[in-house]
Amino acid sequence: MKFNPAKALENSSEIGSHRGVNHMINDSATYTFESGESMKDCFDGKLEGAYLYSRHWNPTNFALAKSLAAMEGTEAAWDLGSGMAAITNTILQLCKSGDHIVSSVSSYGGTYAFLKNYLPKFNITTDFVNIVNLESVEKAIKPNTKIIYTESLTNPLLQVSDIPRLKEIAKKHKLTLVVDNTFSPLILSPKVLGADVVVYSLTKFVNGKNDTTAGAICGDSEFINNLIDLNEGTSMLLGGVLDSIRAANIHKNLFSLPIRMTQHSHNALFLAEKFEKLGLRVIYPGLKSHSQHQLMKSMMNKEYGFGGMLAIDLDTSARASRFMKLMQKNGVGYLAVSLGYFKTLFSNSGSSTSSEVPEEIQREMGLSPGLVRYSVGLDHDINSTFKTIKKCYSML
Ligand code: PLP
Repeated sequence: MKFNPAKALENSSEIGSHRGVNHMINDSATYTFESGESMKDCFDGKLEGAYLYSRHWNPTNFALAKSLAAMEGTEAAWDLGSGMAAITNTILQLCKSGDHIVSSVSSYGGTYAFLKNYLPKFNITTDFVNIVNLESVEKAIKPNTKIIYTESLTNPLLQVSDIPRLKEIAKKHKLTLVVDNTFSPLILSPKVLGADVVVYSLTKFVNGKNDTTAGAICGDSEFINNLIDLNEGTSMLLGGVLDSIRAANIHKNLFSLPIRMTQHSHNALFLAEKFEKLGLRVIYPGLKSHSQHQLMKSMMNKEYGFGGMLAIDLDTSARASRFMKLMQKNGVGYLAVSLGYFKTLFSNSGSSTSSEVPEEIQREMGLSPGLVRYSVGLDHDINSTFKTIKKCYSML
């Protein structure tokens, strides 16, 4: 039977303590033991179901992780304080000094900077490729390669990663396929399509409130347990855990994700089609003109549409800047980074969330200096939003 992420998510909810409809927030940093012996057993990993210390596990974080794992179809998950914590912990858990990574060049600027500028300090190097060109992915693999890293829908170019084919390559060369699914929760189920580990910035669509940063790693139980191993686990030792009060809030917001994603997608498709008719250069995987529209259709869970992210190209950063100022002034939304908010957010990728990528690489990868990336909001009347955007465009 076809995997249904929303159903799996719904089924993951449980009656909380004292029969509350929500899980009780456990805001304890430490937990008691009845005896020194049972504490020792816990440290030795022999005590099932016991909580020790919140950096390791916490019942509230566990409840959120269980729902995220259900939604992704993974055995387990772990929550962290930001998406970058999820990404860096995953990579550091999988790689040691001397290892090599093949990564999509179109990826969040912070991820690019971590791979390009930070990891070489530990003698871990990365080759960046156009993830759409599978030949170039395979060509970049070296004897010391450990990971193929990509985003299911890449930031900011909205390329579609062919996860089943990437999995074939990863399997052939015994590599781990890590996929960031931040742009397309529910729409794509990377684990079901072949990824080994799925990472998230929960800050974005999953939480949807832009009130906190958070991240998650979804994978098999062995990988998640290794991350929090007392002696060697990257997450346990680097300590990027999510606070339990935030975890409880995100957990409650998670259950409205299916309906939010459907509305984000509906509005984004509406704008993308209208923009295209206006003669704008539009990137949106839901448009037939997107070179990977068919691939997207073949991989997606159709109920949630093609996602809330779209981009248009206004040629120059100065034009993009004027346009964004006009849109903010006229109430289209906010000139802000990030995504997944109920208001529409827009930014000029090359000078903001991809500014870590050097200009010549931006040009090479096809990132126009005038690219305006939209995270389309939950607007009730998207036609009137479009009319306002059209007016702003005519004022350029
Ligand atoms: N992954 C993607 C695709 C992103 O766009 C971002 C942030 O914009 C991140 C990861 C990092 O997430 P966070 O800001 O929660 O650390």
